[in-house]
Amino acid sequence: MLQKPKGTYDIYGDKALTYLYFRKLVEALMDKYNAKYFETPIFESSELFHRGVGETTDIVSKETYDFKDRGDRNITLRPEGTAGIVRCFIENKLYAENLPLKAWYLGPMFRYERPQAGRYREFYQFGFEAFGSFDAMMDAEVIGIVCNLFKILGLKGVSVNINTLGDKESRENYRKALLDYFKPYLNDLCDDCRRRYEKNPLRILDCKVDSSNEIMKNAPKMTDYLNEESRIHFDKVKKYLDAMGINYKVNPSIVRGLDYYTHTVFEVQADIEGFGSQNTLAAGGRYDHLVEFVGGPSVPGVGFAVGLERLFLALDAENIDIREIIYPDVYIFSAEDEQKPYVLSLSNDLRLAGFNVEIDYNGKSFKSNFKQADKVNARYIIIIGEEEVESKILTVKNNETKEEYKVKLDKIIEFLDEKLGEEHED
Ligand code: ATP
Ligand code: MG
Repeated sequence: MLQKPKGTYDIYGDKALTYLYFRKLVEALMDKYNAKYFETPIFESSELFHRGVGETTDIVSKETYDFKDRGDRNITLRPEGTAGIVRCFIENKLYAENLPLKAWYLGPMFRYERPQAGRYREFYQFGFEAFGSFDAMMDAEVIGIVCNLFKILGLKGVSVNINTLGDKESRENYRKALLDYFKPYLNDLCDDCRRRYEKNPLRILDCKVDSSNEIMKNAPKMTDYLNEESRIHFDKVKKYLDAMGINYKVNPSIVRGLDYYTHTVFEVQADIEGFGSQNTLAAGGRYDHLVEFVGGPSVPGVGFAVGLERLFLALDAENIDIREIIYPDVYIFSAEDEQKPYVLSLSNDLRLAGFNVEIDYNGKSFKSNFKQADKVNARYIIIIGEEEVESKILTVKNNETKEEYKVKLDKIIEFLDEKLGEEHED
């Protein structure tokens, strides 16, 4: 039997209902912020991610799906959403329009990782990016969006961790301090960290292997190396978060895996007992040099991404069900083959009038049709026989009370409106 590729999963049934409702909820939330929807290609030139995510990141160095297309181009399946949005922002000169621009996306990402709970090779992210503001207000706003999303979902066990990487100067000073600090311990670190020491020592703090190590715990802290400007920015972010009533912790070990961050970085963790180690639900930060780095003008940005799989696991863990289950308003079937055209035309009219209609496509018996109407949870049943066609009077049955009505064909919409309206009022 053919099976799905390792690390992927199918969306259908309950999962599909959860996914669809989540998308609706996000759409409504994004409207509140006047954010605009973006959809960029699932594959892009490999170079975009090398530049936009960074050569030294785990994502680019070991997790991308790369291939050559038939035209010999180097292509990569997107491992994250920011690089594509930034490319689109530059290519379409959106920086020349009214800024700030708030953008959002929701779609699949691809990373070649070891699959486990909350970690897939194809996974979904909802993400948000704001371009064109250096102000700490935007950093706080972005963190606030994630908090509001979780609040709307009713998710309680979440904790917000923030940190700052400062500006270029602060980061450089910190880098030097880390190099000095880690030098005598190089042999005690993992292979990856020894490589990080050479290329990007900040990333050592992001290591999953060495994270509980004493050496790591005593490492110099970014907050001690901030210049005046960077400290002021961070203080403002905290002040604005306080003003919004958002609880957070300053956590100096948060450096994020991506090369492009400056100033604020944050992660939102699931704080639910027994949730497991894949507990980072959302992550983001400020990236003031990314647009320039990808080839555009100097435009600041700040954003986040939420992983849907982990978020849905967290909802499950808190017994929160966001499925929106929709049942047919009406089930229509014909007594004989001759009335099939009427079934099609009536169902079309009713659907255009806003009803959810299921019909019998298979010429089933009366008995099987009633069974089927129950299985699909139809509220009303309309049976079309020779008599109904001739008299233009329909037989309509309430599938719950079993009450039967005779309704004129040209009054059926009114009838259903009234009946189903009554039910909705209950
Ligand atoms: P992790 O440290 O767990 O590997 P990350 O730092 O690589 O996460 P980001 O690149 O910041 O994650 O992506 C943002 C969010 O996307 C994560 O917090 C997580 O919810 C989700 N995510 C990342 N990788 C995966 C994956 N392979 N499967 C499912 N969700 C993922
Ligand atoms: Mg990762």
